[in-house]
Amino acid sequence: MTVTTMETLIVKSENKFKSLVTKQTYKKGDAICDMPSENISDKPNRFTVQIARDRHTHVGKLAALNHSCDPNVMLDTHRMMVIARRDIEKGEELSFFYPSTEWEMNAPFICLCGSSSCIHVVAGARFLPLSTLENHFLNKHIREMMIELLNNTQNHIS
Ligand SMILES: [Zn+2]
Repeated sequence: MTVTTMETLIVKSENKFKSLVTKQTYKKGDAICDMPSENISDKPNRFTVQIARDRHTHVGKLAALNHSCDPNVMLDTHRMMVIARRDIEKGEELSFFYPSTEWEMNAPFICLCGSSSCIHVVAGARFLPLSTLENHFLNKHIREMMIELLNNTQNHIS
């Protein structure tokens, strides 16, 4: 495993659109960098990542990470690390699956990633069917809230 610093990641800006690009290659499973945790809040915004039920943290440079339905990195909010989900080439844009950390997003949007598994509306895990979520790495707080939602739904049916 190679743990690298933020220096290998570049934030690219085109008009108002930002992206995060890597200057080096990674193997699947590599730790890319630590997730910085600055200014924890109990509400999400466009620059935060959800790390627990009521905790949303500003992640510095990592706020430039875009969503993909077929992402190349995972954000592990338990270890507070960014991990390569597959082999990554030098110059590739890094992206992660937002619902893997976000339960209910403050600024939902339409995804145009073009992946065959595209979820189209990116609004948080609570709006996705289980059959979609189970194809993705999910953090513990998302799994817990998903189980809670399912249990409440079953109570309503019975
Ligand atoms: Zn998509």
